[in-house]
Amino acid sequence: MAGTGVFSEILDGDVYKYYAEGEWKRSSSGKSVAIINPTTRKTQYKVQACTQEEVNMVMETAKSAQKSWAKTPLWRRAEFLHKAAAILKEHKAPIAECLVKEIAKPAKDSVTEVVRSGDLVSYCAEEGVRILGEGKFLVSDSFPGNERNKYCLTSKIPIGVVLAIPPFNYPVNLAVSKIAPALIAGNSIVLKPPTQGAVAALHMVNCFHLAGFPRGLISCVTGRGSEIGDFLTMHPGVNCISFTGGDTGIAISKKAGMVPLQMELGGKDACIVLEDADLDLVAANVIKGGFSYSGQRCTAVKVILVMESVADALVEKVKARVAKLTVGPPEENCDITPVVSESSSNYIEGLVKDAKQKGATFCQEYRREGNLIWPLLLDNVRPDMRIAWEEPFGPVLPVIRISSVEEGIHHCNASNFGLQGCVFTRDINKAMLISDAMETGTVQINSAPARGPDHFPFQGIKDSGIGSQGITNSINMMTKVKTTVINLPTPSYTMG
Ligand code: NAP
Repeated sequence: MAGTGVFSEILDGDVYKYYAEGEWKRSSSGKSVAIINPTTRKTQYKVQACTQEEVNMVMETAKSAQKSWAKTPLWRRAEFLHKAAAILKEHKAPIAECLVKEIAKPAKDSVTEVVRSGDLVSYCAEEGVRILGEGKFLVSDSFPGNERNKYCLTSKIPIGVVLAIPPFNYPVNLAVSKIAPALIAGNSIVLKPPTQGAVAALHMVNCFHLAGFPRGLISCVTGRGSEIGDFLTMHPGVNCISFTGGDTGIAISKKAGMVPLQMELGGKDACIVLEDADLDLVAANVIKGGFSYSGQRCTAVKVILVMESVADALVEKVKARVAKLTVGPPEENCDITPVVSESSSNYIEGLVKDAKQKGATFCQEYRREGNLIWPLLLDNVRPDMRIAWEEPFGPVLPVIRISSVEEGIHHCNASNFGLQGCVFTRDINKAMLISDAMETGTVQINSAPARGPDHFPFQGIKDSGIGSQGITNSINMMTKVKTTVINLPTPSYTMG
């Protein structure tokens, strides 16, 4: 159970502690932040509201801990990560319990998130050992005008203190996808978990604590992003920011100093359906892609762009599957569970009302109880409706009927987002042309957009992000290249 057994140390009365200097601590602010259970809409947990002084102290210890961690052999760093991964998986049940209560993720999916996170940490340790164990050797005579008298050795070195800020929808997985690459590369880490999801994240951090990482190397400060976020992201002690979330990331990018940024932001993933598509396959993927975790996924299908000639048939097939989705509490593993907050529900409702007023066809009746919104397919959506462009982050999916593939590509590219997209057709040549024409970080052919498997490169363009994630890319992003040049007094040529 959450907060008990090996996790009892992280709880102080009814408030979860924050983690600094290798210890679980109470904030000197004396204040806490309430986490509302999206299902009951009552306070479920409380976390510390950390102060700026506490952030300063965490940055100091992160800086000095990193210096000795960088001197820890790579194989030994990997050993620590493998140990943390095993502990994480062993304690999947209490962590998943937090996910169910904090973010209303269905129970089974919550367990999957923790197990997937353990696998990610192990994979990262293995990949780090391989790619950080290699450097480059260059010789000077390949550049015009040079003799072979300079030998250049390159290696990847740590960047320093990495600030990790994940979003509410994958508070464990999107935290470890930043923590593990940072650590294997020899960096220290300061984690600011999302408020909804903070307690799951604190349990996850305790697994790293139990694995015996050096004191101060990993810290986790809690508090509302709106209150301590700017102080963290603009802190001079931060050497790299890895952020996943919404538009907040755009504001952070504008304010951050001269540090590398990894930004994974929102999306409006389009699903383009051609006349020759396997419509049963499309319908299955639309359900999985659009309604899993009630549509609260960055890579959820967020608009269907279907050729008019097959639109009626597709809408009928999707409607039939929507009717089979179960709606209710996450504890019962329902397909559709309450969305994360009341403000989120209100936002979704605003999009639905706008679509209604502008004449969209409702394939189901709109229904909401508290934060629970029944799955809704909106047909005949037009570009003047907000839902055509905005990210609902809820179980509402618009269908736009198109008369040409070009119209679909144009809609996709007119979005300010460019995370993923997908195209359904039996013609691989057409699929490749469409994939090339879509201005998104990834295009899936004949499947819904998805972030995993976690070692695949994952990136958004335009307002969807900066840089690329995926295990190898994250490790590379969290390192600098260092070169040493050996200058010979006379050129030296190998004779073979
Ligand atoms: P969000 O509101 O942007 O919050 C993300 C994180 O930023 C949270 O930890 C939040 O903390 C923190 N934060 C808030 N204000 C901050 C500030 N001024 N400075 C620093 N940090 C601050 O996003 P969300 O609602 O959690 O997540 C949903 C969004 O994430 C969607 O747009 C979705 O598409 C996107 N997302 C993108 C990806 C991807 O990989 N591209 C993956 C998943 C989700 P608090 O919770 O304390 O406010």
